[in-house]
Amino acid sequence: MNAQKCLEILREIKDVAFATVDENGFPQNRIIDVMVVEDEKLYFCTARGKDFYRQLMEHGQVAITGLNKEYQMVRLHGRAKRLDEHKKWIDRIFAENPSMNGVYPNDSRYILEAFCIDEGEIEYFDLGREPIVREYYGIGAKLPAEKGFAITQNCIKCGKCEHNCPQKCIEDFVIDQAHCLHCGLCFEECPVGAVKRKDV
Ligand code: SF4
Ligand code: SF4
Repeated sequence: MNAQKCLEILREIKDVAFATVDENGFPQNRIIDVMVVEDEKLYFCTARGKDFYRQLMEHGQVAITGLNKEYQMVRLHGRAKRLDEHKKWIDRIFAENPSMNGVYPNDSRYILEAFCIDEGEIEYFDLGREPIVREYYGIGAKLPAEKGFAITQNCIKCGKCEHNCPQKCIEDFVIDQAHCLHCGLCFEECPVGAVKRKDV
Protein backbone atom coordinates (compact mmCIF):
# COMPACT_ATOMS: atom_id res chain seq x y z
CA MET A 1 0.00 0.00 0.00
CA ASN A 2 1.07 3.61 -0.50
CA ALA A 3 -0.53 7.06 -0.58
CA GLN A 4 -1.48 6.90 -4.26
CA LYS A 5 -3.13 3.47 -3.85
CA CYS A 6 -5.10 4.75 -0.86
CA LEU A 7 -6.39 7.68 -2.92
CA GLU A 8 -7.27 5.27 -5.73
CA ILE A 9 -9.40 3.27 -3.28
CA LEU A 10 -11.33 6.48 -2.53
CA ARG A 11 -11.71 7.09 -6.27
CA GLU A 12 -13.01 3.53 -6.81
CA ILE A 13 -15.52 3.92 -3.96
CA LYS A 14 -16.26 7.32 -5.51
CA ASP A 15 -19.13 8.36 -3.19
CA VAL A 16 -17.37 9.06 0.10
CA ALA A 17 -18.13 11.06 3.25
CA PHE A 18 -16.68 14.60 3.32
CA ALA A 19 -16.70 16.37 6.69
CA THR A 20 -16.16 20.08 7.27
CA VAL A 21 -16.73 22.50 10.14
CA ASP A 22 -19.44 25.17 9.85
CA GLU A 23 -19.34 28.80 10.99
CA ASN A 24 -20.59 27.78 14.47
CA GLY A 25 -17.87 25.16 14.91
CA PHE A 26 -20.26 22.24 14.36
CA PRO A 27 -19.23 19.23 12.26
CA GLN A 28 -21.06 18.83 8.94
CA ASN A 29 -20.92 15.75 6.77
CA ARG A 30 -22.17 14.80 3.30
CA ILE A 31 -21.47 12.37 0.47
CA ILE A 32 -19.31 13.81 -2.33
CA ASP A 33 -17.86 12.18 -5.46
CA VAL A 34 -14.10 11.78 -5.79
CA MET A 35 -13.72 12.99 -9.37
CA VAL A 36 -10.03 12.58 -10.21
CA VAL A 37 -6.98 11.09 -8.48
CA GLU A 38 -3.48 11.52 -9.87
CA ASP A 39 0.04 12.19 -8.61
CA GLU A 40 -1.02 11.80 -4.95
CA LYS A 41 -3.68 14.49 -5.35
CA LEU A 42 -7.46 14.16 -4.97
CA TYR A 43 -9.91 16.36 -6.91
CA PHE A 44 -13.58 17.04 -6.31
CA CYS A 45 -16.09 19.79 -7.04
CA THR A 46 -19.11 21.50 -5.56
CA ALA A 47 -21.49 24.30 -6.51
CA ARG A 48 -20.94 27.86 -5.35
CA GLY A 49 -24.40 28.02 -3.74
CA LYS A 50 -23.82 25.17 -1.32
CA ASP A 51 -22.97 25.40 2.38
CA PHE A 52 -20.16 22.95 1.63
CA TYR A 53 -18.60 25.48 -0.75
CA ARG A 54 -18.83 28.26 1.83
CA GLN A 55 -17.24 26.09 4.52
CA LEU A 56 -14.43 25.09 2.15
CA MET A 57 -13.73 28.72 1.30
CA GLU A 58 -13.81 29.80 4.98
CA HIS A 59 -11.75 27.03 6.56
CA GLY A 60 -10.58 24.66 3.84
CA GLN A 61 -10.12 21.80 6.27
CA VAL A 62 -11.79 18.60 5.15
CA ALA A 63 -11.87 15.00 6.44
CA ILE A 64 -12.80 12.23 4.02
CA THR A 65 -13.73 8.63 4.82
CA GLY A 66 -14.56 5.73 2.51
CA LEU A 67 -15.04 1.98 3.03
CA ASN A 68 -15.03 -0.53 0.17
CA LYS A 69 -16.59 -4.00 -0.07
CA GLU A 70 -13.35 -5.61 1.12
CA TYR A 71 -13.61 -3.62 4.37
CA GLN A 72 -10.62 -1.47 3.48
CA MET A 73 -11.15 1.96 4.98
CA VAL A 74 -9.25 5.05 3.87
CA ARG A 75 -9.36 8.31 5.78
CA LEU A 76 -7.80 11.50 4.47
CA HIS A 77 -7.71 14.84 6.17
CA GLY A 78 -6.09 17.91 4.76
CA ARG A 79 -6.67 21.29 3.24
CA ALA A 80 -8.81 21.68 0.11
CA LYS A 81 -7.72 24.43 -2.29
CA ARG A 82 -9.99 25.90 -4.95
CA LEU A 83 -8.37 25.58 -8.35
CA ASP A 84 -7.68 28.42 -10.73
CA GLU A 85 -8.44 27.74 -14.39
CA HIS A 86 -11.99 27.04 -13.32
CA LYS A 87 -13.46 25.97 -16.68
CA LYS A 88 -10.50 23.80 -17.57
CA TRP A 89 -10.86 21.76 -14.39
CA ILE A 90 -14.65 21.47 -14.58
CA ASP A 91 -14.36 20.25 -18.18
CA ARG A 92 -11.72 17.71 -17.13
CA ILE A 93 -13.93 16.47 -14.28
CA PHE A 94 -16.92 16.10 -16.64
CA ALA A 95 -14.78 14.26 -19.21
CA GLU A 96 -13.74 11.73 -16.57
CA ASN A 97 -17.18 11.50 -14.97
CA PRO A 98 -19.73 11.65 -17.84
CA SER A 99 -22.73 11.04 -15.56
CA MET A 100 -22.24 14.63 -14.33
CA ASN A 101 -23.75 15.82 -17.63
CA GLY A 102 -27.14 14.55 -16.51
CA VAL A 103 -26.97 16.53 -13.27
CA TYR A 104 -25.48 19.76 -14.67
CA PRO A 105 -26.32 19.84 -18.42
CA ASN A 106 -24.64 22.24 -20.84
CA ASP A 107 -23.11 25.39 -19.34
CA SER A 108 -24.82 24.94 -15.97
CA ARG A 109 -21.68 22.94 -15.09
CA TYR A 110 -19.84 26.19 -14.52
CA ILE A 111 -21.73 26.87 -11.31
CA LEU A 112 -19.35 24.20 -9.99
CA GLU A 113 -15.87 24.93 -8.66
CA ALA A 114 -13.05 22.38 -8.59
CA PHE A 115 -10.96 21.72 -5.49
CA CYS A 116 -7.77 19.78 -4.90
CA ILE A 117 -6.29 18.20 -1.77
CA ASP A 118 -2.55 17.96 -2.31
CA GLU A 119 -1.38 18.03 1.30
CA GLY A 120 -2.68 15.93 4.17
CA GLU A 121 -2.55 12.71 6.16
CA ILE A 122 -3.93 9.35 5.13
CA GLU A 123 -4.88 6.43 7.35
CA TYR A 124 -5.40 3.03 5.75
CA PHE A 125 -7.27 0.52 7.92
CA ASP A 126 -7.92 -2.98 6.59
CA LEU A 127 -10.54 -4.77 8.68
CA GLY A 128 -10.89 -7.54 6.11
CA ARG A 129 -7.63 -9.22 7.16
CA GLU A 130 -6.58 -11.08 10.27
CA PRO A 131 -4.84 -9.51 12.03
CA ILE A 132 -6.09 -6.11 10.94
CA VAL A 133 -3.67 -3.83 9.09
CA ARG A 134 -3.20 -0.13 9.76
CA GLU A 135 -0.83 2.17 7.87
CA TYR A 136 -0.24 5.92 7.66
CA TYR A 137 0.94 8.08 4.80
CA GLY A 138 1.48 11.77 4.18
CA ILE A 139 0.81 13.58 0.91
CA GLY A 140 2.50 16.80 -0.11
CA ALA A 141 4.80 18.09 2.60
CA LYS A 142 2.69 16.58 5.36
CA LEU A 143 4.09 13.74 7.46
CA PRO A 144 1.65 11.40 9.20
CA ALA A 145 1.24 12.04 12.93
CA GLU A 146 2.11 9.24 15.32
CA LYS A 147 -0.98 7.62 16.84
CA GLY A 148 -1.82 4.65 19.02
CA PHE A 149 0.03 3.33 22.05
CA ALA A 150 3.57 2.38 23.05
CA ILE A 151 5.06 0.41 25.95
CA THR A 152 7.59 2.43 27.94
CA GLN A 153 10.59 1.56 30.07
CA ASN A 154 8.34 1.46 33.14
CA CYS A 155 7.11 -1.96 32.01
CA ILE A 156 7.57 -4.68 34.68
CA LYS A 157 7.03 -7.44 32.10
CA CYS A 158 3.97 -8.92 33.80
CA GLY A 159 2.57 -10.03 30.42
CA LYS A 160 -0.98 -8.84 31.09
CA CYS A 161 -1.23 -6.63 28.01
CA GLU A 162 0.12 -9.35 25.71
CA HIS A 163 -2.35 -11.86 27.13
CA ASN A 164 -5.38 -9.54 26.78
CA CYS A 165 -4.63 -7.83 23.45
CA PRO A 166 -7.52 -8.71 21.09
CA GLN A 167 -5.24 -8.71 18.01
CA LYS A 168 -2.29 -10.45 19.70
CA CYS A 169 -0.05 -7.71 18.37
CA ILE A 170 2.20 -7.38 21.44
CA GLU A 171 5.36 -9.43 21.45
CA ASP A 172 8.38 -9.11 23.75
CA PHE A 173 6.69 -6.04 25.29
CA VAL A 174 6.58 -4.16 21.99
CA ILE A 175 3.38 -3.26 20.14
CA ASP A 176 3.34 -4.11 16.44
CA GLN A 177 1.77 -0.86 15.25
CA ALA A 178 0.72 -2.25 11.87
CA HIS A 179 -1.80 -4.58 13.50
CA CYS A 180 -2.96 -2.50 16.49
CA LEU A 181 -6.66 -1.60 16.81
CA HIS A 182 -5.91 1.45 19.01
CA CYS A 183 -8.53 0.01 21.37
CA GLY A 184 -6.63 1.13 24.51
CA LEU A 185 -7.11 -2.11 26.47
CA CYS A 186 -3.37 -2.38 27.16
CA PHE A 187 -3.35 1.25 28.29
CA GLU A 188 -6.29 0.76 30.67
CA GLU A 189 -5.18 -2.55 32.16
CA CYS A 190 -1.45 -2.05 32.69
CA PRO A 191 -0.93 -2.27 36.50
CA VAL A 192 1.94 0.25 36.51
CA GLY A 193 0.84 2.76 33.84
CA ALA A 194 3.65 1.72 31.51
CA VAL A 195 1.61 2.12 28.30
CA LYS A 196 1.42 5.65 26.91
CA ARG A 197 -0.59 7.29 24.15
CA LYS A 198 1.71 8.28 21.30
CA ASP A 199 -0.20 11.43 20.28
CA VAL A 200 -0.15 13.27 23.66
S1 SF4 B 1 0.69 -4.76 31.28
FE1 SF4 B 1 2.13 -3.06 31.57
S2 SF4 B 1 3.72 -3.89 32.90
FE2 SF4 B 1 2.57 -5.64 32.12
S3 SF4 B 1 3.75 -6.30 30.31
FE3 SF4 B 1 2.17 -4.88 29.60
S4 SF4 B 1 3.16 -2.86 29.58
FE4 SF4 B 1 4.44 -4.22 30.82
S1 SF4 C 1 -4.34 -0.81 21.78
FE1 SF4 C 1 -5.55 -2.74 21.75
S2 SF4 C 1 -4.90 -3.77 19.87
FE2 SF4 C 1 -3.38 -2.21 20.28
S3 SF4 C 1 -1.79 -3.24 21.42
FE3 SF4 C 1 -3.17 -2.33 22.94
S4 SF4 C 1 -4.64 -3.96 23.41
FE4 SF4 C 1 -3.58 -4.56 21.51
